Amino acid sequence: MARRPLVAGNWKMNGLAASIAQLKAVIAGAGALPKVELMVCPPATLIASFAVAARGTPVLIGGQDCHALASGAYTGDIAAEMLKDAGASAVIVGHSERRQYHHETDAEVRAKAQAARRAGLMPIVCVGETRPQREAGHALDVVATQLQGSLPDGAADFVVAYEPVWAIGTGLTPTPADVGEMHRSIRDHLVARYGAGGQAARILYGGSVNRKNAAELLAVENVDGALVGGASLEADDFLAIAGVYR
Ligand code: PEP
Repeated sequence: MARRPLVAGNWKMNGLAASIAQLKAVIAGAGALPKVELMVCPPATLIASFAVAARGTPVLIGGQDCHALASGAYTGDIAAEMLKDAGASAVIVGHSERRQYHHETDAEVRAKAQAARRAGLMPIVCVGETRPQREAGHALDVVATQLQGSLPDGAADFVVAYEPVWAIGTGLTPTPADVGEMHRSIRDHLVARYGAGGQAARILYGGSVNRKNAAELLAVENVDGALVGGASLEADDFLAIAGVYR
């Protein structure tokens, strides 16, 4: 099954107006990488200007979180419809930093993914185990439970990002064998639940992907791209990672 790979950059709480230079460099490099879909997820303040700069180019713009509701008295929150209106085409939901610092549950993540669908955005649903959970041998079960609770029912019109919490921003990565085992397990879940749609859905790996380890991690079966944090802030690094698909 040929799935078009996706390399998405999660800028987290980084980036000011001048950072559009990095986006422009990504756009400039994208033409040489037709086999891979490229996405930049800047902070919400930059989505509208980035979307204008990326219009008519192959580079997609995504949000990093959304509220489950379309509008209302939720100070500081952003609706999926607002991201769409600002020019985003996707949104990350359930990132471990949201689960950890904002105590988001699987049910809330699922509601956010459904909100993304309602707004016409592609949800990128994040799952991943902690270090103690992996060491206890529970990684596959933890992720299966997160998938069951966080993914919306119906169509498999989402991307799953497997991001072991202990690998995010630490420079640590699972072995290719561990990545392969987890992505196989996620694929099995998706196919059992969504049929052919689950076979077609993309599963990204995320957690300390950089230009040195990208080739090895992205070569693993059922790894259909990467969600990149720190290494997505510099266009050169981001393009080097996506360049694995040259
Ligand atoms: C992330 O936060 O989604 C991520 C993968 O971060 P990093 O690449 O910095 O580990």
